[in-house]
Amino acid sequence: MSVSLRLKPGRHRALQGCPWVFRGELLHHDPPPTADVEILDADGRMLGRGLYSPTSAIAVRMMAFGRGELQLHDLVRRRVRAAVRARESLQTVRTGLRLVNAEADGLPGLVVDRYGPMLVMEVTFRPMADLIPVVVEELKTLPGIAGIYERGQLSARRHEALPLEDRLVWGELENPVTVDEYGLLFQVDLVEGQKTGHYLDQAENRQAVAAYTPGRRVLDVFAHTGGFGLQALRAGASHVTAVDSEAGALRQALANAATNKLSDRFEVQEANAFDWLREKSRETPAYDVVILDPPAFTKSRTAVEGALRGYKEINLRAARMLSPGGILVTCSCSYHVDLDAFTAVVGAAMHDAHRDARLLDVRGQPADHGSHPLLPESRYLKCLILEMSGS
Ligand code: SAH
Repeated sequence: MSVSLRLKPGRHRALQGCPWVFRGELLHHDPPPTADVEILDADGRMLGRGLYSPTSAIAVRMMAFGRGELQLHDLVRRRVRAAVRARESLQTVRTGLRLVNAEADGLPGLVVDRYGPMLVMEVTFRPMADLIPVVVEELKTLPGIAGIYERGQLSARRHEALPLEDRLVWGELENPVTVDEYGLLFQVDLVEGQKTGHYLDQAENRQAVAAYTPGRRVLDVFAHTGGFGLQALRAGASHVTAVDSEAGALRQALANAATNKLSDRFEVQEANAFDWLREKSRETPAYDVVILDPPAFTKSRTAVEGALRGYKEINLRAARMLSPGGILVTCSCSYHVDLDAFTAVVGAAMHDAHRDARLLDVRGQPADHGSHPLLPESRYLKCLILEMSGS
């Protein structure tokens, strides 16, 4: 006999197919004895089945809508296989990619990234943490996998009362590893590196931006291990300056440049990007392409104003440094700043810089980071490409 939880009357997103049910939307307050629950609408009709977390604000994440029986372990195994299969063609051009992207793949709170022979998992939902053995049984059968490592130092795990620890889940730890991203080699530190090691979510944007760079002088700000800049060099950029505040990331960027035989046209600057841009934007325009890929400026709705000021400032300074006809690539991964707000602040920065600019391309997350259509919370990445007017 499974446990049923009923929704309060109201216009809940789950009624339209959103996979999240918030605690306040449930009529019941006592935690059920099992995580595997049925969800009923306010009239007692079966909405579907989900997994219950006793601690977080998102109490239930749906696993299936409609009636039907559900063999949870079997369903999880099938979804892992389907997620991997859906990315088969991508694996021919990138050996670093996301294999499982949580709700978008029907596996709430589970992220699995592949870096050549290693898999790196992030689990941010308690019931999914309990299903890890099932997930691992499936993942370890993938050809060429040496080990599965879990990164656990994530603030989201706190809300689920999960330990903030990293661990080797299966096999052996091979670290660092080298991945091939559209023909360019990157060394990735799976243990100490940011995110799961590499900013996989920008892989397609790096590739798209490279097309604008042949023969041009490129400034890559918030460069991390050199992703955008090195793709630009490979495409024929005449010179790349990479700016980041983290010395370790820049050391890796230099090593990546050497591995790919691109060192002669590559230089790094360790600096706070805000200070560096403020200082350099007083000089004559020196770049034909400027890339801005900052970290999230806000993790909360209340700090949006400050984040917008930050975006305004760096975009304004970048615009001043661009040659006539130059290209500005400007990104935001702050979920709380949506595409319209971001585009508006970039436009206002162009105006303040006295630059006329055309928006050439509006980009987002790559195919391996596909999102659930009814979960705007999972669409965070924005990447605008603008062209400055000729003179
Ligand atoms: N463009 C990169 C990813 C950038 S992630 C890629 O394609 O791989 C954001 C980067 O900004 C991180 O490397 C972080 O070290 C750096 N960073 C954060 N705050 C910074 C600051 N104030 N000044 C310069 N770099 C900063």
